[in-house]
Amino acid sequence: MKRRDFITKIGMGTLATGAGLATTSTIQAASQRLRWKMVTTWPPNFPIFQDGVKRFAKEVRRMSNGRLTIQVFAGGELIPPLQSFDAVSQGTVEIGHGSAYYWAGKIPAAQFFTAVPFGMNAQGMNAWLYGGGGLELWREVYAPHKLVPFPMGNTGVQMGGWFRKKINTVADLKGIKMRIPGLGGKVIAKAGVNPVLLPAGEIYTALERGTIDATEWVGPYHDLRLGLYRAAKYYYYPGWHEPGPTLEMIINKTAWESLPRDLQLIVENAAMAGNLWMLSEFEARNLEALQILKEKYKVQVIEFPDKVLGELKKLTALTLKEEAAKDATFKRVYEKYQRFQLTHDAWNKISENAYARAKQIEG
Ligand code: CA
Repeated sequence: MKRRDFITKIGMGTLATGAGLATTSTIQAASQRLRWKMVTTWPPNFPIFQDGVKRFAKEVRRMSNGRLTIQVFAGGELIPPLQSFDAVSQGTVEIGHGSAYYWAGKIPAAQFFTAVPFGMNAQGMNAWLYGGGGLELWREVYAPHKLVPFPMGNTGVQMGGWFRKKINTVADLKGIKMRIPGLGGKVIAKAGVNPVLLPAGEIYTALERGTIDATEWVGPYHDLRLGLYRAAKYYYYPGWHEPGPTLEMIINKTAWESLPRDLQLIVENAAMAGNLWMLSEFEARNLEALQILKEKYKVQVIEFPDKVLGELKKLTALTLKEEAAKDATFKRVYEKYQRFQLTHDAWNKISENAYARAKQIEG
């Protein structure tokens, strides 16, 4: 036996029988330094959304002691914002952040993993995704695209939007032009609204000039920042169309599988922390901004009339049924989502909702 062969054989024997000893691969993994590129769909310095992603990358670097460094690029800095799905899917970059309903054109069922009109709020979404089989289903739906999704962020219930005129009845919606994307747009179109798509940068001017009559955006904090109160007087609630949109992190499957287990756990738990961090930020910043809108800018904050909400709810059921008939995966995810939502609603009725009512009773 040659000396080199002898050493190799002895070495392998030691590794195989030496319980508790680190294997060559874990030693290599522990010293390996990885650099990933992360692209988002958000503008640079977009508060909470892009901030949350930067915070996530920093946490991963710190928790992994520099073994995984993630360089973050805002939408357009490396690739156009809405090409991030393809970039991560094809492995051009390892990781991305955005929201699943942006990919509705490729995967109609993806919308359930962000928000659907009159669907679940943030608490319900987290319960479904983490505890009710929603995340497994999401991963199954994304698997053909070689993507592993994670929930990371939630805006909480959004606002219904800014209107230049009052909406007292369903008839008041007829013929108005509103910036409202996704399923919400499809639903409100059935009530006679002309839904239009506009990027953030064009919303204010369009509303101010009357090119559109109404717009939804996010919530008080982001809406205040965009100055929408200067272009429309009436600020309606609730955001029936986006009751608790989940934001998503996507990782290229090969990149994910090449991570040692401990780095996978760091990434997974940092995403979970990011999910909570963003939701908490939205909640804290929105309540401050709402006070400013009401007190400083005298914005009229109005609840949609019950009849309008009732009609939109009816049209939502119709829209979801139509979409389900067009796509088998949409139908399958819809049924699972719906089943969870019904039981969550029943629980909510005697927990969160009952408590909210109890708080309004005068003592
Ligand atoms: Ca929105």
